[in-house]
Amino acid sequence: MHQGKLFLIVGPSGVGKGTLVNALRAKHPEFYFPPSATTRHPREGEAAGKQYLFFSEAEFEKLEKENGFLETALIHQKEKYGTLRKPILEAIAAGKIVIREVDIQGLISIQKCLEKALFSAIFISPPDKETLRKRILQRQPEMDAEELNRRLQSADKEISQKNLADFEVISEDNEIAAMVAQVEGIIDGISK
Ligand code: 5GP
Repeated sequence: MHQGKLFLIVGPSGVGKGTLVNALRAKHPEFYFPPSATTRHPREGEAAGKQYLFFSEAEFEKLEKENGFLETALIHQKEKYGTLRKPILEAIAAGKIVIREVDIQGLISIQKCLEKALFSAIFISPPDKETLRKRILQRQPEMDAEELNRRLQSADKEISQKNLADFEVISEDNEIAAMVAQVEGIIDGISK
């Protein structure tokens, strides 16, 4: 059996990473999409084990001490989130393709602690800044100008670091199938 591989999907907020990952999930039930670990409480209707595994602060800290995470983040200075190491390494060892969405900070952490042969990063870029602005507003039409500018500035910062990734895929408008095909091509090309 050949070894599997972790594919990290990186890119600015609003670019369509979630849409891409959902499309891959629907098309490839054989891939593994690991849930995140978090200390936040489940929202109504949110089942454990799908997008999130829910941990107490003490459990999360114990896992951190045991080197149980590939990366963690403190979000809104309050709740902890993290990518669990063990289920991903087990899936890779079992020959699986693992798909994981992370931010640039997550990619940098994973680059520091995971053997390079085990993962590749794919950066999803907007075709241009104006398209990204439109997409963010489409999703959240009520967003005020200040918040929008903050998002666009952090997008600029992420895009300036896209060379940290191994591949780049442009997320053209209404071209989800083409984006999926490009990502499948990358996965096929290097996981064989
Ligand atoms: P929410 O609590 O609204 O589901 O997510 C809050 C934020 O946490 C989102 O920006 C999401 O991308 C981020 N997040 C979710 N899981 C992880 C993870 O495993 N690692 C990191 N670094 N961030 C995560």
